[in-house]
Amino acid sequence: MSETLSQVDVFIIGAGPIGLTCGIEAKMAGLSYVIVEKGCLVNSLYNYPANMTFFSTSEKLEIGNIPFVSVNLKPTRAEALEYYRRAAIHYELNIRLFEEVTEVIRKPDGSFLIQSSKGNYAARNVIVSTGFYDVPVKLNIPGEDLPKVKHYYKDPHYYAFQNVAVVGASNSSVDAALETYRKSANVTMVIRGSEISHRVKYWVRPDIINRINEGSIKAYFRSSLKEITPSSIIVNTPEGDVTIPNDFVLAMTGYLPDFSFLKNLGVECSVDDVQLPTHDSETMQTNIPHIYLAGVVCGGMNTHSYFIENSRVHAQKIIRHICSERI
Ligand code: FAD
Repeated sequence: MSETLSQVDVFIIGAGPIGLTCGIEAKMAGLSYVIVEKGCLVNSLYNYPANMTFFSTSEKLEIGNIPFVSVNLKPTRAEALEYYRRAAIHYELNIRLFEEVTEVIRKPDGSFLIQSSKGNYAARNVIVSTGFYDVPVKLNIPGEDLPKVKHYYKDPHYYAFQNVAVVGASNSSVDAALETYRKSANVTMVIRGSEISHRVKYWVRPDIINRINEGSIKAYFRSSLKEITPSSIIVNTPEGDVTIPNDFVLAMTGYLPDFSFLKNLGVECSVDDVQLPTHDSETMQTNIPHIYLAGVVCGGMNTHSYFIENSRVHAQKIIRHICSERI
């Protein structure tokens, strides 16, 4: 086992926009800190679809009072990657990338020993800002483990001239359906509800509705995927089961926080459907003293309740509380 580094005031798990904000606030408060990230900088954003445009305007994605200048009102993924990288440089943030946090052990004195894939750390406080993009919601149907089934969508060219089924009717599903259709895929949408979600970006929703109405994209509403085979899908529709030729399934069924990671830390979650991780909304402290939650991980299954705009403030709340406890 490698040597434990000297103790930091704040150990931050995850270098997403909110983990970075926690680092900025810790630094500005004169606390020692480290941000440890299992992937690249802003890993979730990096893994978004390549051509993705945010639904938020750029100023709502700003951190550390650094202006986010984008060409259009709504920035692109590429602009956001640039912005957060420049923010990390500006604040000279102490970040370790491609290093997964595997365990957080609470010592008898209330401080923590943290194990990562690359070493050990000691910390007085731990901030969990691990997001929700790592665990896709499964369909739990036969054939889901076939390699043609994707829970992450990157780029449309790959699907040219293929029979593509897109599951879901949210922003991710609609973007994937429109992009692949425009790169010559034969697209079928399988949608549980009776319409395209009203949360779909207002400038995109008419586009998908018109494509469906004109028959360019086939949509089965009030329907669900029943089975996937190497060459087809079986869709359960109000009119009965329909078998459709299929090459790829884009299962855009959403993502979940890593509840097992939270549980291993000792963070309790509510026993209802939301599985809300226990935390004080004023201090963001969990049921374990000195372990805090920040960012979209706070919402449990309600992954739409937090986004960058309304969770940036978590960083200030946490650092204020940590500083008040030091007095
Ligand atoms: P994340 O950005 O998810 O960061 C968490 C980080 O923790 C990740 O980098 C992850 O790799 C890392 N991590 C996880 N586990 C570990 C571990 N054990 N060890 C080390 N590192 C770990 N939000 C908006 O506000 N506006 C938008 O327009 C918008 N558009 C979106 C579009 C799409 C397609 C998707 C999927 C999401 C969108 N969101 C948007 C939501 C947005 O992703 C979140 O609001 C934002 O990423 C939250 O930041 P975060 O720091 O809490 O979490």
